[in-house]
Formats: sequence, structure tokens, C-alpha cells
Amino acid sequence: MAENNSKAFDLIVIGAGPGGYVCAIRAAQLGMSVACVERQYLGGTCLNVGCIPSKALLDSSELFYEAGHSFAKHGITVGNVGLDLPAMMKRKSQVVDGLTQGVGGLFKKNKVTHVRGHGRLAGNGKVIVKDGNASREISAKHIVIATGSAPIQLPSIPFDGKHIVSSTDAIAFGELPKKMIVIGAGAIGLELGSVWARLGTDVTVIEFMDRIVPQADREMTTLLQRALEKQGLKFHLKTAAETAKIEGAGVKVTVATEGKKSVIEADRVLVGVGRKPYTDDLGLKEIGIESDKRGFISVDAHYHTKAKGVYAIGDVIGGTMLAHKAEEEGVAIAELLAGKPGHVNYKAVPNVVYTNPELASVGMNEDEARARGEVRVGKFPFLANGRARAMNSTDGLVKVIADAATDRLLGMHIVGPRASDIITEGAIAMEFAASVEDIARSIHAHPTLPEAIKEAAMAAEKRAIHI
Ligand code: FAD
Repeated sequence: MAENNSKAFDLIVIGAGPGGYVCAIRAAQLGMSVACVERQYLGGTCLNVGCIPSKALLDSSELFYEAGHSFAKHGITVGNVGLDLPAMMKRKSQVVDGLTQGVGGLFKKNKVTHVRGHGRLAGNGKVIVKDGNASREISAKHIVIATGSAPIQLPSIPFDGKHIVSSTDAIAFGELPKKMIVIGAGAIGLELGSVWARLGTDVTVIEFMDRIVPQADREMTTLLQRALEKQGLKFHLKTAAETAKIEGAGVKVTVATEGKKSVIEADRVLVGVGRKPYTDDLGLKEIGIESDKRGFISVDAHYHTKAKGVYAIGDVIGGTMLAHKAEEEGVAIAELLAGKPGHVNYKAVPNVVYTNPELASVGMNEDEARARGEVRVGKFPFLANGRARAMNSTDGLVKVIADAATDRLLGMHIVGPRASDIITEGAIAMEFAASVEDIARSIHAHPTLPEAIKEAAMAAEKRAIHI
């Protein structure tokens, strides 16, 4: 029997990932008394086993790769470049620890009550929280579910945590794999494949579709694939990974490329085929909350589930499964609960793959935009951008897509250096419903990478200066 904690909150948030912790803080700012229940670590997938540790390793491995491959071009000689993997992993953990402790500090500052344990919905605004053998009940007027997601496992290629692994294991290998197979050429597969390839692993990527990052702009994914191939990654497209057999220290993966079977061997296999909603032991059905076929919680436009007073946000409701989308939903639901007009503009959510070069986009890709009506497309290569040349990072281009009739920006796509940072210009332009001419006439500092965006916008009007 759960101990009844008499304190009733205005809001209980279940899950302290970027959706949940941001929601809790925003609600507290708006005057609500808030409890945030977390079964593992503050910061959720993003801070602990997702965005942050993967980017820490991407930054470290990029420096390692640059030191061995391009420092000499800058006139820097460094002798033998060596890898200290334990030190690299330690730095990654320090980055993670600093940020998760930061969330704890923000909870204190905003007077959010952090309740440790697994939360289960008990109906009528009640949540039972189990922490080891202890159990207690808390209650609130509103409940927001932000329980996130977990890696998808392929039934015929199950995780064993050592040879066949998810991203959680692949950000923590204790030694450098000699050969690695990555199943799935989405963001997670390409980023972690890049980390290990830069450090010296022979990486083969298997992708079922006919291109990498299948939802992205086709032309941009072709450019990215070419750049990654130059770094040594191998790609098998239109290929299904069918079975895997662990033999000694390695794994044999049977694949079928357009029906033709072959076997690829490696010492590690990363299965990066996507993530599924995490709702284990949450008690959804018991209080009448519905999920779709894939298990994502169904919500209306205001994040309300079928149960009165219970809402859901972030990865657990699907859509674009990204940290910044979860954060925006966290802010929106807190504001809606406070009687404000909370809102997320799903057309302006940027999407990034943090490879080198990076792939970043916002809005429609060219195929989607052309299917909708007449468009004007402007492109500008980083080879013609002064800053990219100074950096020795000239792979890639910017593509800007405008509605031919209204000139409104429909989409922006970038393969190139720091695409993750500079796509923000596209996201802001989309948010402000900018025309492509607005971008073309905005003064950009020189010499900078975003000048390539301005020139792509000018190219859409056939008046680019530097090509
Ligand atoms: P989560 O971050 O998954 O948090 C959910 C939290 O709820 C967890 O802490 C969990 O322990 C807790 N929880 C679950 N059930 C209960 C319960 N019953 N009781 C109490 N607590 C519970 N996104 C980006 O935008 N950029 C990136 O660069 C990026 N890189 C990524 C790299 C990797 C390797 C991975 C795996 C993901 C990456 N993502 C990235 C995706 C991003 O991590 C997720 O979209 C984001 O974390 C979703 O936030 P969330 O709050 O919905 O859920």
C-alpha cells in the first residue's frame, strides 16, 4: 500500500528529460507548485545517453581526426597522434555530469520538487511513485507525461549489450572496435558511425532505403554520403539486415541487397533503426489513455490525452523525436495550463545530423515543395564562401526553397561546416514567415558561413554575386 503524501501539487510531471524538466521549470515560473518524478537521471535520454554524450564524442573524435588529417594543411605539425579512449570517455562523462547537476540546480532555483522513483498513474490526479521498496502517493490538478523513448530492437538481431548494441552502449565502448556494422543510416547511426570511423574503426552502414537520412532533401543526402565515403565509411543501401550470429568475439550479419544475400562480419553491430515510446508500467490503459499502433500516446492539439487532466509531450507522443521539439512542447503545455496561448510551430523545427560536414534543414525538402506547387530554388556552395575556405571546410552547399508566387521561404537545407549553428537563421526566417528576398537583403557579417545562406537566397532571384 502506498504511503499517502498529503501534499497536492498544481502539476506533476513524469519524466525529467528535456520535455519534462523544461515543462516543470516553465510551470514553476508561472506560479504553479510542481513535482517532477524521475526514475533514473535528471536530463533524460538527451543529457545522459543521447544528444550531449554523442556530441561530446563527436567533438573529441573530430579533433582527433583533424589532428591526423588536416592540421598539416594549416601549417601545424603534431608528430604521432595518439588515442587515449578512457580520457575521451572521462571528458564525455564530465560534460554529462555538469549538465545533469545543472538541471538539479535549476529545479532548486525554481522550487520544483524532484521526486525520485518510477511514477505510475493511479487516476483522479494521483501518481504512485516507487523508489526501490518504498512507495508513496502524490497528487495534482494536472499531470504531464514526458516519459520519452527507448531504442527499437530488431527481433532477429536482438541486443546483447556487448556485440549487438544500442546507441547507449555505442557511446561507452571501452575499446576501439576494429570493424563495426551500423544498421540504419539515420542521425544516430551516422553520428556514432562517424565517431568510431574517425577514431580508426572500419565502419559499414546498412540502410534499407535507397539513400541515407531518408526524410531529408535527396540532393543533400547524396552530398553527405559522398563526404562520409571520403572519410572511409562504407554504405550498403537498399539493403536489409536479416539475421546476426555471434561467433567468438565477432558477429556475422546476413544482409539482403535487392534480394541478393551476403554476410558481413564485424566485432560490433550498432542497431540504430529508431526509437519507440517508453510507457512501461505507467498505467495508461487503466485510466483510459489511448495509444496509436506504435505505442505513441494519442493527444489532441493541446496535448490532452483521453484522461481528464492528463497531458503528454515529447518523444512519447511521436512526431519529430528531438530534444528541442520536446522542450517547446514542455513550454507550450505549461503555458496552456496557466491559461496562456502556448503553441509549437511544427513547420519550423530544425533537424540536424552532426556529422562532418553537418546536415541541417528546416521546412520542406525540394521534393515535398515541388509536389505542393511551383517553387524557386537557390543554391550556393561553401567552396565559394570565404570563411569556409579559411577554415579548409568547403564540402557542401546551402539550398533555399521559395514559393514561386509569394516568395515565402518553404525550406532551407545545408550540408556544410557548422550547419547545426547556421540553420537557426532558416528556423527564425520560417518563424517570421520571411520571404527569400528578406534573407537576401539582410546584411550578413563578412566573412562568415551564413553569407552562404544570403547568397543562396540571392541565387533564388538569379542575382548571387559570388558564383
Ligand atoms: P527523454 O529524454 O527520453 O526523457 C524521459 C525521462 O522520463 C527519462 O529520464 C526516463 O528515465 C523518465 N521516465 C520514463 N518513465 C518514467 C516513469 N514511469 N517514472 C519516472 N520517470 C520516468 N535530439 C536532438 O534534438 N538533438 C540531438 O543531437 C540528439 N541526439 C541524440 C543522440 C542519441 C544517441 C539519442 C539516443 C537521442 C538523441 N536525440 C537528439 C533525441 C533526444 O534525446 C530525445 O528526442 C529527447 O531526449 C526526448 O526528450 P523527452 O523529454 O521526450 O524524453
